[in-house]
Amino acid sequence: MRLISYIFPIYNEADNIALLHKTVTEVVKPLKKKYEFEFIYINDGSKDDSLKELEKLHKKDSSAVIVDLARNFGHQIAVTAGLDVAKGDAVIIMDSDMQDPPKVSLELIERWEEGYDVVYAQRRSRKDTVFKRATANLFYRTLHSLAEIDIPRNTGDFRLIDRKVVEEVRRYTEHNRFLRGMISNVGFRQTGVLFDRDERHAGETGYPLRKMLKFAADGIMSFSSAPLRLISRLGYIMSFLSVIFIVYTLSVRLFYPTHAVEGWAFIVISIFLVGGIQLIMLGVLGSYIGRIYTETQNRPLYSIRNILRSKK
Ligand code: UDP
Ligand code: MG
Repeated sequence: MRLISYIFPIYNEADNIALLHKTVTEVVKPLKKKYEFEFIYINDGSKDDSLKELEKLHKKDSSAVIVDLARNFGHQIAVTAGLDVAKGDAVIIMDSDMQDPPKVSLELIERWEEGYDVVYAQRRSRKDTVFKRATANLFYRTLHSLAEIDIPRNTGDFRLIDRKVVEEVRRYTEHNRFLRGMISNVGFRQTGVLFDRDERHAGETGYPLRKMLKFAADGIMSFSSAPLRLISRLGYIMSFLSVIFIVYTLSVRLFYPTHAVEGWAFIVISIFLVGGIQLIMLGVLGSYIGRIYTETQNRPLYSIRNILRSKK
């Protein structure tokens, strides 16, 4: 029988775990004759009682596999750990806060049966704050116009991926990970299904603004060198403008010598303007160099403290 693995990254989800597990196991019940299931919970250094809840779950249900990471490594790394541990012929990645409705995973499995290797769940609507929706929208637009590959819009990590694709993604060893980009980059046959994203059931978001910005930068910088090209483009524009200014200044000197001292304000403004642009551009360079640095250190992506898995 073929095995399907569910991967749930867990960061402070104590009040969601029991409901989540109950809901998915209910949802997959009709498929039990056709497939085996394993449910992999990766505890990403939760500070609440999540680990206790997970251990309880494992005692009750042997199909629940618990991976306890040594500290909080971040959502993308937690999912990566899940991909390494999962044994399924297909792997389904889902959020653990009930925002990704478990019943949608059945549609993902159906499309997989039709022969697709990646089936991503695309949001038709979402019930997040105005701020989250606006920033997400801006991010997907920017990514879409900058990225060198086509990354589907309004799509999180909620998706099913076939074993073949899991093995390919596991060969991506980069540290600043943007999984949905990596999965698009792999290729194979990919398709999407639409769904309505729910509200978070309990607890609060594990993605404060700081993490969101880092994640957005990872997405854009892993799949685009457009920010770097922007530097030289701005450089050209500035040089072109300065030629015009030189011509202007010379003409004032030659034809209106009495006016020549004016323009002091102009000089000061241009110094600040150019200085500002240079600093921003240094920042762009710095972000890439910082990422190159972490990649060359090539540290292990994560450390596992413990795995609870019933042997079969
Ligand atoms: N998460 C994680 N590590 C983190 C932050 C989040 O494993 O450092 C998990 C979290 O438990 C959830 C998923 O990643 O299952 C998505 O996080 P969240 O719902 O907080 O993000 P949002 O939906 O607000 O963007
Ligand atoms: Mg959420």
